[in-house]
Amino acid sequence: MNDQQRPADVKTIRGHNLGIAMRTLRDVGPLSRVQLARQSGLVHASMTNLVADLEARGLVRAVEPARADGRGRRRGRPATPLEIIPDRALVLGVSLTRDRVDAELAACTGAVAWSGSRVLCRDGLSPEDVAQHIGDIIREAVAFTAAAGSLLLTCVIALPAPVGSEAGEVKAAIDFGWQRVPLLQLIRQAGVSDAVELTLVSDANTAALAEYAALDQPRPPVAAYVKADVGVGGGIIANGAIFAGQDGLGGAVGHITIDWRGRPCACGSVGCVAAYAGPEPLADGAGLRDVLDADGVDAAINALIARASDGDARALGALDLAGRAVGFGVKAMCALIDPGVVILGGYLAPLHPWLEPRIREIIASQTALTAHLPIQPGRLGARAVLDGAAKLGFEPFFDDPSIVPLLSHPS
Ligand SMILES: [Zn+2]
Repeated sequence: MNDQQRPADVKTIRGHNLGIAMRTLRDVGPLSRVQLARQSGLVHASMTNLVADLEARGLVRAVEPARADGRGRRRGRPATPLEIIPDRALVLGVSLTRDRVDAELAACTGAVAWSGSRVLCRDGLSPEDVAQHIGDIIREAVAFTAAAGSLLLTCVIALPAPVGSEAGEVKAAIDFGWQRVPLLQLIRQAGVSDAVELTLVSDANTAALAEYAALDQPRPPVAAYVKADVGVGGGIIANGAIFAGQDGLGGAVGHITIDWRGRPCACGSVGCVAAYAGPEPLADGAGLRDVLDADGVDAAINALIARASDGDARALGALDLAGRAVGFGVKAMCALIDPGVVILGGYLAPLHPWLEPRIREIIASQTALTAHLPIQPGRLGARAVLDGAAKLGFEPFFDDPSIVPLLSHPS
């Protein structure tokens, strides 16, 4: 840690300050240098220099005056507001589910520059087939960034499975019936260049990150996220960042055992939260299995909400059981990580009015300390996974925007 400590520190501090300036412009919008210094807390005297650096990297520009003729404006006067150039650096987020692959190129402002998707046939897809679809869509996105003159910072691939960090291996994906699939290697073999940085992450973790960022300020430092769609997953946010454990397997609340003599679960264990709150048990309990099988999860959940709203006893019974199951999962998370908020995502968000009282009842039996724990529905719906993938991909950029090189031909 002592190697060249001083230069490293100076560079680190400078990168850190550039990141603060970019975050402030992202969050507050166009600002003059004076306003940027005031809003960011950065020293005003350093602002000219920091802004010049960001301009030289093509990351910010002076907002065009309405009647601009372009002359004499390049340096910008102190009161000229600055704005982020959104298409200079992009992150590619890819979301894989059992049915489809969706991809978006996002700017650091959150704007979407490009999107693409592939529908997967439901049965008989090998890991190689899925990797080929993902590879095709990544190559399309890379071609778009090249044509637009943008820099592709990284590609974050979110999938409904715990993901190990070692060589991009998927340890087990229940939705796909995969065990130890070297997905990143297969995506490379599908023609994605080594120049494109690829990261695999669980979609519950990216969704947790996005939903955490969408919370009202001030946000608690620790949050527990539980998500259900085709399965039940979860994520932990600690100090504002995803905490996924050593191999990316942490936070998988769906497969916490809540009854060791309970129902068998698709993961191979018994009595998991998912065996009671997953879409199949929920639909079975509510008498909606035919809707689930014919029309999918969203249709089944909509029908469940309609029946529960009408006071249908089977629907309410299924929700009661699911709420208790999620409640015991949340209780275990409370004991392990002591969250400041619990966020329900996926279809648990619209079911929040029925689930929340059951969850509260279960966790209140543990300790008075959890009695006032906020348990709230996620705000982002289906957007959460890709929003979070982009956020995760931009983290190194906001830590130090100088990872974007200087423009070779400044205009
Ligand atoms: Zn399980």
